[in-house]
Amino acid sequence: MAEKRLPTRLLLEEKELPRNWYNMNAVLPEKHAPALHPGTLQPCTLEDYEGAFCTELAKQELNVTDEYIPIPEEIMDFYKMIRPSPLIRAYCLEKSLGTPAEIYYKFEGNNTSGSHKLNSAIAQAYYAKKQGLTSLTTETGAGQWGTALSMACAFLGMDLTVYMVKCSAEQKPFRKSVMETYGAKVIPSPSTTTEIGKKILAENPNTAGSLGCAVSEALEVATKTPNCKYVLGSVLDHVILHQSIIGQETKTALEKYGVEPDLLVSCIGGGSNFGGFIAPFIKDKINGKAKYEILAVEPKSCPSLTRGRYAYDFGDTGKMTPLLKMYTLGNGFMPSPNHAGGLRYHAMNPIVSKLYHDGYIKCTSVEQTSVFEAAVRFAKTEGILPAPESSHSIRVVIDEALKCKETGERKKIVFCLSGTGYFDIKAYTQYNDKTMTDYIPTDEDLEKGFATIPDIPQNK
Ligand SMILES: *Cc1c(COP(=O)(O)O)cnc(C)c1O
Repeated sequence: MAEKRLPTRLLLEEKELPRNWYNMNAVLPEKHAPALHPGTLQPCTLEDYEGAFCTELAKQELNVTDEYIPIPEEIMDFYKMIRPSPLIRAYCLEKSLGTPAEIYYKFEGNNTSGSHKLNSAIAQAYYAKKQGLTSLTTETGAGQWGTALSMACAFLGMDLTVYMVKCSAEQKPFRKSVMETYGAKVIPSPSTTTEIGKKILAENPNTAGSLGCAVSEALEVATKTPNCKYVLGSVLDHVILHQSIIGQETKTALEKYGVEPDLLVSCIGGGSNFGGFIAPFIKDKINGKAKYEILAVEPKSCPSLTRGRYAYDFGDTGKMTPLLKMYTLGNGFMPSPNHAGGLRYHAMNPIVSKLYHDGYIKCTSVEQTSVFEAAVRFAKTEGILPAPESSHSIRVVIDEALKCKETGERKKIVFCLSGTGYFDIKAYTQYNDKTMTDYIPTDEDLEKGFATIPDIPQNK
């Protein structure tokens, strides 16, 4: 009997949207180490977090008990405009590879920000507004987060200042225009508008900037401006919480269409799309019921999980954030200015770090040019021009599918296509012109970064 052919788009209806976010912190068998106040080295309290973040987000950050956290109606209303996002069977890619593997991707790029970032941006802006704040500051690397937050702030009528990593601002001037269209003020970082920016520039006038440094500038402005808070697009647990909408929709769609995955794949920068994508799958992985593997993919140029240290470190170059226990290359690590802007971060979310440390997930790293080769192949067969970040996943998925061609295995591979690459045309141009290079840090380069990890008793 012929097998039933699944539709290309495994769609959900609005009524199948999740009503809660899924909190992985509630199901970790062993909690990850608490964030520490950098002055006292004591676990951060709600009050500590409230210095920088708005109260509801601070509470979510500290919540290790509630597996499900209800999504407020107003946020649901916004989600309904952009979600459920499609889960797509990559029939055409499979065919071009000649693989017996089944490939599925959850597409998060179908909004103006071109990425999953809007899922958390709207939640963070909503809670800030509800608390009576009037403005926000943030950083952006590749520009997706800044754009997403500009959209959310415009929607809710809030002011926004975005510190954009300098090399990104130069590579993607149109990103800046989009953010400005939504009413945001965009400043290339490091800048002379902050004390930390001036200091970094004095030490290193030609720096291309980094996420860690842009975070410091945005934090500094937030702490000095009344009615203003800082928001972050990745790395923190509450961001991953909001992104759990991705994984829940994926799980619901797979169950609805009777697909049992063998492998879940996504790229990691600070860990938010990956964490959100795997969130509802992790419980079965922890209790041993899952037959699937979970694989994170990072760039070889910024290998925080595969070559980093598991230690307490700052989330920013200016050493202003709480200390987080995470895989890190050191807060002073300056990644080479490659094209996967959203993956150029020195460390990794504490939940993802803990899951990796305890062996529940795996990680692999890939090189830039091979990533773009995969990206072009995907663009030609699936019609979507993928973000360089997401193309890290595509590289690994294609390699897995080609392995299946040899073994005959009908592996079911599901990955998160976190965004589109319409603003990454410079990168695609370099790839097409064959002027793109690969850079892998030496052990010596990494040692310089590791030397910036704080020397505190907890790291002994
Ligand atoms: C920001 C971004 C990433 C990396 O950030 P995570 O927090 O690790 O998800 C990946 N893909 C896209 C498209 C992004 O915009």
